[in-house]
Amino acid sequence: MEIIAVGGYEEVGRNMTVIRYGDDAIVIDMGIRLDRVLIHEDTDISKLPPEELASRGIIPSIQDDFGEVKAIVLTHAHLDHLGAVSILAEKFPMAPIIGTPYTIEVVKQELRGRRKNPLYVLEAGEVLQVAPKLSIEFVRITHSIPDTVFLVVHTPEGSLAYFNDFKLDDTPVIGEKPDYQRIRELGKEGLKALIIETTRVANDGRTPSEQVARTLLEDTLLKSNPERGLIVTTFSSHIARIKSILDIAEKLGREPLLLGRSMEKYVSIAERKGIISLPKEAHVYGGRDAIKKALKRAAKDKQRYILIITGHQGEHDALLTKIANQKFEFRIEPGDEVVFSADVIPNPINVAQRYALETKLKMQGARLFKGLHVSGHASREDHYDLLKMLQPEKIIPTHGTLDMLAIYAELAETLGYAINREVFLLRNGQRMEV
Ligand SMILES: [Zn+2]
Repeated sequence: MEIIAVGGYEEVGRNMTVIRYGDDAIVIDMGIRLDRVLIHEDTDISKLPPEELASRGIIPSIQDDFGEVKAIVLTHAHLDHLGAVSILAEKFPMAPIIGTPYTIEVVKQELRGRRKNPLYVLEAGEVLQVAPKLSIEFVRITHSIPDTVFLVVHTPEGSLAYFNDFKLDDTPVIGEKPDYQRIRELGKEGLKALIIETTRVANDGRTPSEQVARTLLEDTLLKSNPERGLIVTTFSSHIARIKSILDIAEKLGREPLLLGRSMEKYVSIAERKGIISLPKEAHVYGGRDAIKKALKRAAKDKQRYILIITGHQGEHDALLTKIANQKFEFRIEPGDEVVFSADVIPNPINVAQRYALETKLKMQGARLFKGLHVSGHASREDHYDLLKMLQPEKIIPTHGTLDMLAIYAELAETLGYAINREVFLLRNGQRMEV
């Protein structure tokens, strides 16, 4: 079995790994790297050629000796795992794109008219044969977007597991807790290798459950001033978080207005797939004119609504930023409350944008509530627990910069693994035989 590190082994983003067995291969994830989109002002992903996007570090660099690609498997619908599908999937036109129901629905929207590959829905708990000697299995796991799975690749000579991304949430707001039974079984059956994310391995302890974010939100929002405007901003793909906000809105007696292009995209898919049901007084608008109209309505009657919108990173084209820049009739007035249910993604561009956003909001008199958020990624002690359950023969950390991969390696050492004996740090483009 050969593991080809394509993307995500030197950075947080553009995840892509190829597993090759004989002549056959599976591509796992096809992500983009969003902070690299931001540093070039002229970046329009849909217009630049793939070679240019790869050289800017936005999408993974494809090589021509991956073998016969039999399947493109997507573990979840975050853009750093599937955002390059619309650009790269057609390089392997015969390979079906395989994902869980929510993920495939997002893929359909990403591909729109340009679909060449067949799409295939695989549920958590199911196994699919993709080549005579290669089958894949999805196992239920928790993260910050619905329907996330981890992947097991089975070959006649052993299995390999791909855990990227995940948290261990025993009380998720949506969906079920991780399939610990299957995870333990895999450990007993024996895994030849584990490819594992490292995004938050540098954080001590365990990542709190999504229920904790719900409680934090409840605690703050139930104390909000009923006479003033109320805005909550969060990740549009974080459907569990949005569900919590909707539930709290009901307690507050405010009508939810879910606004923003990506908000409409992810929430509509979740509703269509039966993952959430919107209360009948809630409205979702993604088009420019519809948003403008809704905000005009809300401006006249602020205490009636709760705005659930995009823009927590201060992105220049997101709604909260535009509100702060006074582009709508809806203006921030003294005493209006703005709640950030998201952390700042720690790269300097985001930090600067968020600083500008917060400053503008405060200058207009907004009261800010920040950090009502828990991560979707496992922390150090979650990783420790998981590693004890899985006990793989070899470990390849991913989804991090070299220092993050090294922190994982150090953690593995505490469980008896050794670097370059069982734990291998790969760089993008490198290969390893198992
Ligand atoms: Zn993710």
